[in-house]
Amino acid sequence: MELYNKTLSELALMLREKKISSAELTKSIFDRIEAVEDKIEAYVTLNKENALKAAEEIDKKISCGEDLSPLAGIPIGIKDNISTKGLRTTCSSKMLENYVPPFNATVMNKLCDAGAVITGKLNMDEFAMGSSTETSYYKKTKNPYDQTRIPGGSSGGSAAAVAAGEAVAALGSDTGGSIRQPASYCGVVGLKPTYGSVSRFGLVAFASSLDQIGPIGKSVEDVAIIQSVINGYDKMDGTSQYREYTDYKANLKSDVKGLKIGIPKEYFGVGIDDNVKSSVMNAVKQLEGEGAIIKEISLPSTDYALSSYYIISSAEASSNLARYDGVKYGFRAENYDGLIDMYERTRSEGFGDEVKRRIMLGTFVLSSGFYDAYYKKAKLLQRRISNEFTENFKDIDVIATPTVPTTAFKIGEHFNDPVKMYATDICTVTINIAGLPAMSIPCGYDNNGLPIGLQLIGDKFAEQTLLNTAYAYEQLKGGFKLPTL
Ligand code: GLN
Repeated sequence: MELYNKTLSELALMLREKKISSAELTKSIFDRIEAVEDKIEAYVTLNKENALKAAEEIDKKISCGEDLSPLAGIPIGIKDNISTKGLRTTCSSKMLENYVPPFNATVMNKLCDAGAVITGKLNMDEFAMGSSTETSYYKKTKNPYDQTRIPGGSSGGSAAAVAAGEAVAALGSDTGGSIRQPASYCGVVGLKPTYGSVSRFGLVAFASSLDQIGPIGKSVEDVAIIQSVINGYDKMDGTSQYREYTDYKANLKSDVKGLKIGIPKEYFGVGIDDNVKSSVMNAVKQLEGEGAIIKEISLPSTDYALSSYYIISSAEASSNLARYDGVKYGFRAENYDGLIDMYERTRSEGFGDEVKRRIMLGTFVLSSGFYDAYYKKAKLLQRRISNEFTENFKDIDVIATPTVPTTAFKIGEHFNDPVKMYATDICTVTINIAGLPAMSIPCGYDNNGLPIGLQLIGDKFAEQTLLNTAYAYEQLKGGFKLPTL
C-alpha cells in the first residue's frame, strides 16, 4: 500500500485502527526517500536505523492499547537548525558540519514524548538566511513541482520533503517567512505561530526576537495536530508565554459566517504576479460565498517592512553568530597563527557568503556612528508596523494576502542579486516584525502548474481562528495532491 501520499490525520487513524503498523509506515517513507531523494535532495542527514527502532517501540505501545497522541508512530522530518540529541545538527553550514547536540530542543522532547518517529534532518539556507535553500553548504533542494526551480527557503527541505512524500510532516522555523514561503512554493500548509507560543529552546538562533518554530503539513488538520503538541510555556525560553492548553484539531470548525476578513491594498500592488493575485482574490471570494465579510484595509507602513526586517534580523544575527569562533562549537581552521588569526580564519572559512553579508550588515547598523540612523529607526518602524496591525484587528478577525508575490523561481535566478532575493519576502516579514501568527495554504496554480499560496494573518494567539478559516477554505478547494515526480 502506498502510504506516502496520505495525510497525517489519515495515517493516525489507520494506526489507531491497526490497519497499518508504524514500522510499516516508517519503512514505506524510507522507501519513498530512496526513490525520489536523488531528484529532490531534501535531507542533510537521515535517521533510518533509529527511526525504525522507534517505530517498533511505538507499535508495542499501540498493541498494548495505550492511549497515544495522534503523532504516535508518524514519521516527521526536522529542519536542521533544531537541536536533536545525538543526531547531527548542521544548520546547513560548514561551521557545524560535525556538530552533534548533547541535548534536545524543547519541541523535540515534545515530539518524542508524543511518539513521533524522526526521519532525519532537512536541508535549509545556511543558518536560515535565505529564501531559496540555495545558501546551504551541502546541496540545493529542488521544488517537487519542477526540479529546475527552488523549493523556497529557508525551510526548503522541510516543505519539499512533505510535498514529495519524503516525510508525513515536518518542522520548520520562520524568522521572516521561512515556513510560509516554502510552503507556498511547494503546495503544502505551513503555520508560523505567535511569537512566544512555541519554545525556541534548542532552535539555533538567527534573530531571536523574530524566530519561531512551526509545523509544515499536507493539510490544515495535520498542522493543527502538530501545533497542539509543540506549543506551550517553557521555562527554558525567556520569551515563552503561558497560555491554557488548546487542542486545535478538536476545535477545528469550518464555519466562517460573519468572520471579518481584511484585504490590505498594500499587499496587492507592484510586483504581484497576475496569477497569484487572481488565485488569492478567488479564494477570498469563495470564503465570502460561505458568509465571511470582506473589508478593504490599509497597512501603510508595509513599504518600510523589508528594510526594517533586514536591519533588525541582521543586527541580531551578527550578535548570535559571534559564538562560532572555533573554540566552542564545530569547525576550526586548520592553519593559523595565534588566537586572533584562528578566529578570523575559522569564520572566513566556516561561513558562506550570505551569512557573512548579514554579519557585516548587522555589525554596521549596530556600530556607534550608524546605530541611530539604522537600528534605532528600524525599531521605531517595527513599533509602527505592529501598531497598524493592532488597530486593524480591533474590527477584523483575519487578514488575507498572497504569501509570496510570485511562484517558485528558477535555481540561480536571484542567487547573485540579494536585493531581488530579499524582495520575495515582502508579504511575510511584517508578521514576524509584529510577532503575529500566520499561515500559508495552497490556493491554486499558475500557468506553469506551480502552486500559489494564500496567507492568512491573525491577531496574537488567534491560531484557532486562522486554522478554522484555512480549514473552511480547504473544504471548498479540496485536499492535498501529490505532484508527479
Ligand atoms: N528570507 C528571509 C531571510 O533571508 C527569512 C528567513 C527566515 O525566515 N529564516 O532572512
